[in-house]
Amino acid sequence: MTERRSWAEPWKIKMVEHLRMTTREERLAAIKEAGYNTFLLKSRDVYIDLLTDSGTNAMSDRQWAGMMLGDEAYAGSRNFYHLEKAIQDYYSYKYLVPTHQGRGAEHLISQTIIKDGDYIPGNMYFTTTRLHQELAGGTFVDIIIDEAHDTENEFPFKGNVDLAKLQALIDKVGVERIPYVAIATAVNMAGGQPISMANLKEVRKLTQKYNIPIVHDMTRVAENAWFIKIREEGYSSKSVAEIVYEICTLTDHATMSAKKDPIVNIGGFLATNDEDIYRKAQNMVVVYEGLHTYGGMAGRDMEAVAIGIAESVQDDHIRARVGQTQYLGEKLLEFGVPIVLPIGSHGVFIDAKKFLPNLEQDLLPAQTLAAEIYIEGGIRTMERGIVSGGRNKDTGEHNRPKLELVRVTLPRRVYTQSHMDVTAESIADVYARRDSIKGLRFTYEPDYLRFFQARFEPID
Ligand SMILES: *Cc1c(COP(=O)(O)O)cnc(C)c1O
Repeated sequence: MTERRSWAEPWKIKMVEHLRMTTREERLAAIKEAGYNTFLLKSRDVYIDLLTDSGTNAMSDRQWAGMMLGDEAYAGSRNFYHLEKAIQDYYSYKYLVPTHQGRGAEHLISQTIIKDGDYIPGNMYFTTTRLHQELAGGTFVDIIIDEAHDTENEFPFKGNVDLAKLQALIDKVGVERIPYVAIATAVNMAGGQPISMANLKEVRKLTQKYNIPIVHDMTRVAENAWFIKIREEGYSSKSVAEIVYEICTLTDHATMSAKKDPIVNIGGFLATNDEDIYRKAQNMVVVYEGLHTYGGMAGRDMEAVAIGIAESVQDDHIRARVGQTQYLGEKLLEFGVPIVLPIGSHGVFIDAKKFLPNLEQDLLPAQTLAAEIYIEGGIRTMERGIVSGGRNKDTGEHNRPKLELVRVTLPRRVYTQSHMDVTAESIADVYARRDSIKGLRFTYEPDYLRFFQARFEPID
């Protein structure tokens, strides 16, 4: 991996934020109080926060300068028009409906086009995306290639769609029951794995034959584009910006969590090329988010997103962004820690089933491991396994995802390589004492997206 060490970050630090160091005793008390759920820890008790790359990014001096140019008019803010232009210029979509974050856009698109009894095929589920599909009366169907469920398979495009699975669904339920195909770039739940341009073009061809639109979950489209650039034939001399644009032109609508790729702390949008969908979503946004020229964002937030979009598609930025993730992943591999391969774009995913082979899935191995990593080094990660999988909406049983992972996620432009070293060493220390780790059980389970607020206790 020559692309990882021969360069340093394409930025320097202008302001610092102090971190608080804690003792093991303090961390034991903190995780107990948090019900062994890293989402319930207080930020002040965390040393290196790798819970998520969502809204945890460091904005640039230009973005902060943009914040001062916020036009906080209720209607027609100039920042809206800047954002609209950025979305047209960098992503090719015609129409913009701003939302407070990604799930706001998912809500709008789901309620606008899903009918009761519909099926929504997608290249793996995402928690909020699937829930909004279900709340609109739809059923999610996984059409990602089988390789995506195998943590050891090193296929370079594990975000690809299995076209046979898509065709089989069309044959089984009929085109009229499929309102759209959901395509995510840099598939989060598969470990930040990309879809290839070739595969996306095939999906486009098949869906066009049946006149089924594609909704693009473009949360990490630039990260996906980087992998296309370095792995797919014919793309090495294209810029990330060009590849991002091309990806978007192969889809019809898009939902964006601007808290990821566009390097801000809050924001999102729905973008579309379809005027009818645009009008409907624009009407709905005033009910749930805010007027259609701010949709839950302040003017200054929209300005920061507009600037962040331009920064996010720069080759130097994305090489360093994805490169840091590769660096951490390779360190963990050197320590023998089992992780999902290939290493993804926004985080390293530890295979908790292999890390803790003695714990069956009902003992919540990934939840347990995330708690142990916090106790070890004050490093906050998150569970992506049976707890995140939720329950089947019809049977009430646990969904049992094949993957039982701990996600170690990297905020953009926040931590240095030394933080990555400390992280890898702490996880290696947990690995060394893995045989003594026992598992957790639920003590409280909320109805929706339970992983955020569930509480647990250790099993002895
Ligand atoms: C974060 C995320 C979302 C939801 O966005 P929010 O801004 O958190 O509401 C949707 N899809 C993917 C792939 C995400 O990573």
